[in-house]
Amino acid sequence: MKPIYTPKGKAGEYGDLAVNIYTGCPHRCFYCFAPGVLRKEREQFHTCVEPRPGIVDAVKRQLDQEGITGKLIHLCFTCDPYPEGCDSTATREIIKAIKDAGNHVQILTKGSGRRDFDLLDSGDWYGVTISCWDGNALWDEPWASLPSDRCRDVAYARDAGIKTWVSFEPVLDADLVLRTLMGSGILFDRVKIGKLNYHPSNIDWAEFGRNAEAICQARGLDYYIKDDLRKEMEEHDENA
Ligand code: SF4
Repeated sequence: MKPIYTPKGKAGEYGDLAVNIYTGCPHRCFYCFAPGVLRKEREQFHTCVEPRPGIVDAVKRQLDQEGITGKLIHLCFTCDPYPEGCDSTATREIIKAIKDAGNHVQILTKGSGRRDFDLLDSGDWYGVTISCWDGNALWDEPWASLPSDRCRDVAYARDAGIKTWVSFEPVLDADLVLRTLMGSGILFDRVKIGKLNYHPSNIDWAEFGRNAEAICQARGLDYYIKDDLRKEMEEHDENA
């Protein structure tokens, strides 16, 4: 098993290298794409959550054999590195191995990685997904941590000198994202924004994207608009 890989397609917009640590994810986000990618039954994906067999040793071996160093490695795409209610010791072991080999990590979670902040430094990124706020999250991401708790962790990460980022993907509440962007200069070093795919939405993506970009530019934020959303904005411009 070579668990460190180069993500392709939409995932490729998030990082050069990545590792997926767990077999599933208990958070049950309604928009979760991972069971489809992994060709797993949705119920099985959300209930059978454990470290992939031999994952820690396989990561250590690959780092050593391929001399992977000086890279930024994303955790995780097809699972969450901090699955709520599950033992995430494997995540800590993998962060240690990645950093011992001279790399940095880019974490993205809807759980809490605060336990591992002692391993991270100013070359690492701690990020959270914010798609909606607490009330709606109880329906849309029922077993993830509350978005307000995720933001609290980000504030702790910032205080600890770790770089912070937010993934507004998929956007479920356009007003929330625009409001958060207005105030996000103090919390996030980098912002990524992406639309909801494969599910119905009444958001006008072109208008939302333009407004989001205008706020990012006015506030001098380090931002990235994902290709799908950028395409909606460009198609609208062409048709105007
Ligand atoms: S946190 Fe990510 S992997 Fe887990 S259920 Fe939600 S979308 Fe899927």
